[in-house]
Amino acid sequence: MSGISLDGVTKRYPGGILAVKGVDIDIESGEFVTLVGPSGCGKTTTLRTIAGFETPTEGSIRIDGEEITEMPPYERDTGMVFQDFALFPHMSIRENVAYGMKASGEYTDEEIDARVAEMLELVELPGTENRMPDQLSGGQQQRIALARALAPRPKALLLDEPLASLDKQLREQMQVELRRIQREIGITTVFVTHN
Ligand code: ADP
Ligand code: MG
Repeated sequence: MSGISLDGVTKRYPGGILAVKGVDIDIESGEFVTLVGPSGCGKTTTLRTIAGFETPTEGSIRIDGEEITEMPPYERDTGMVFQDFALFPHMSIRENVAYGMKASGEYTDEEIDARVAEMLELVELPGTENRMPDQLSGGQQQRIALARALAPRPKALLLDEPLASLDKQLREQMQVELRRIQREIGITTVFVTHN
């Protein structure tokens, strides 16, 4: 597994908005770290610089000690679950979970099928391969988004308010689930929330 270090990370968007200023964080391999702060404080931007969807204006980012500040997202091996956890609506659960592995071109169909089944077990939705996203509840779709992020065995899991759209009871249940899953696979995790 992998540690993540941010060293003096600053992000200024075009137009001059200072979204993130001089962030230093050292996250150890296997650690679960939560970034908490009000809306607009730069949480999503920070996660996006770790995932590689944004390049910092200043500072550097390392995963496993390797400098990755300028590396494109697909080479970084991070798995991200977005705020709205949007699944691909026209794809089955199998296709959704398999997406990252298919895109990498590194796996056979047998490996993908086995991994999809394993991930669906992990999120406690076994046997849902052939369903479509709109046939699952919000909480179930959220678990599938997590399975999709984890399927390609990322070095780190980045979660951007993944529980925000769930009602309170489901959110609390999913917090416990998320912690169980994170412990079970020991993946370095950065969780962002305003709550
Ligand atoms: P959070 O996730 O904590 O709500 P964000 O990282 O989304 O915060 O945003 C931090 C600041 O950067 C906000 O002022 C926001 O309006 C601004 N911002 C975010 N994304 C962009 C963008 N693509 N272009 C310009 N400004 C942005
Ligand atoms: Mg945000």
